Amino acid sequence: MGSAVAYHAARSGQRVLGVDRYDPPHDLGSTKAETRITRLAVGEGSHYLPFVARSHQLWRDLEARSGEQLLHQCGGYIVTPRGESTDDRWGDFVSATNTIAAQAGIDFSIIEPAQFRTQHPGIVVGDDERVGYEPTAGLVMAERAVAVQIDLARRDGAEIHTGERVVSITPSVASVGGSVTQSAASAVVETDAGRYHGHRVVVATGPWIPELASTLDQPALRVTRQLAVWFEVDELEAFRTETLPFFIWAGASIDDYVGVFPMPPGGTPALKFVSEQFHESTDPDRAERSVSRSEIDDFYERLVHPKIPSVSNRCVKAAVCLYTNTPDDHFLIDTSPESDQVLYMSPCSGHGFKHSTALGEAVAQWAATGSLSPDLEPFQRARLH
Ligand SMILES: Cc1cc2nc3c(=O)[nH]c(=O)nc-3n(C[C@H](O)[C@H](O)[C@H](O)COP(=O)(O)OP(=O)(O)OC[C@H]3O[C@@H](n4cnc5c(N)ncnc54)[C@H](O)[C@@H]3O)c2cc1C
Repeated sequence: MGSAVAYHAARSGQRVLGVDRYDPPHDLGSTKAETRITRLAVGEGSHYLPFVARSHQLWRDLEARSGEQLLHQCGGYIVTPRGESTDDRWGDFVSATNTIAAQAGIDFSIIEPAQFRTQHPGIVVGDDERVGYEPTAGLVMAERAVAVQIDLARRDGAEIHTGERVVSITPSVASVGGSVTQSAASAVVETDAGRYHGHRVVVATGPWIPELASTLDQPALRVTRQLAVWFEVDELEAFRTETLPFFIWAGASIDDYVGVFPMPPGGTPALKFVSEQFHESTDPDRAERSVSRSEIDDFYERLVHPKIPSVSNRCVKAAVCLYTNTPDDHFLIDTSPESDQVLYMSPCSGHGFKHSTALGEAVAQWAATGSLSPDLEPFQRARLH
């Protein structure tokens, strides 16, 4: 998120300082494991549609500027059980997506399992499942997109400091609601290396957000440890973005959820799978970063082999990645309860990356003008109280 804000703000001619405690893209936050799913028909809600659609345009702009392909529109399947599911997030996601797609005129079709099996004989979809398909969906090269946006932000004049940790943000004007003119005021950002004055400050610290967002409703934010695991396949050609769409595959409960990511050009030569769990919370400083052998074996037996039996149990790579969730799983993007000079953007709840460059553009506009786009209103914190 931070790289997108820095990129758009610098591109629009603003004076930008970006500060990161590490050197993004890195392994410790929420943006790792190479790729992220993007879908124009966002079943999570119609308020996301402007951001994902704009992001697709902006990925193409970034590609033109950088010469690097960032968006692979390989298409995407959503598979959900026909019967009962205890999974509120994904349980009826084919129907939710279908409704949004129909309202917005986005190409999305329901496919009979028998027809699906004809197209993909090696992939086990049962008659008790529903399949939806969006041809315009795909994968974004998330880590590369961060690197490209930082690089271009620098080229457009942004100053980017890495390996520098923000320790406090002190707004100069304690005003909310625009009752005090803040045009001449500057907030003070203190880091472990210096002190800076900024007209407006955006805090996009992912799973670390509770550290700096002391005034937000802390119990509302929850950080969880998630896994991404790559398994070797014998016929790699059949599992590339050129040949295979991605899968969002729900089951009877969240424990059965798996996302399947085909290999993009230049990606790890294997098929990537991600699971989700919300049983245990953690934080970025104490999260277990290694993935154990028993976790990998359990992952393969439960989520991989029953669905795509030709995938081998040889794990090529495994990664831990952190989600930050609000109680309703929607984003939290809002100015601070203490000052209109500071804006927090995150809890992106496992589905944020697809919207990130357009969110960055909208937040960069806030940084320039001080007014929040009406499209961002659904993400304000008032709804959580
Ligand atoms: C396993 C997994 C799968 C996902 N799948 C998808 C998907 O398929 N599609 C999708 O759209 N989204 C997906 N998401 C969500 C998406 O990846 C996130 O919404 C997005 O990456 C969040 O980015 P962020 O910038 O908020 O956080 P981060 O990438 O964690 O960035 C926060 C940055 O803040 C820096 N920072 C923290 N504290 C400080 C400080 N005090 N001072 C300075 N810098 C600081 C950190 O170093 C870090 O670089 C997934 C997430 C995970 C974990």
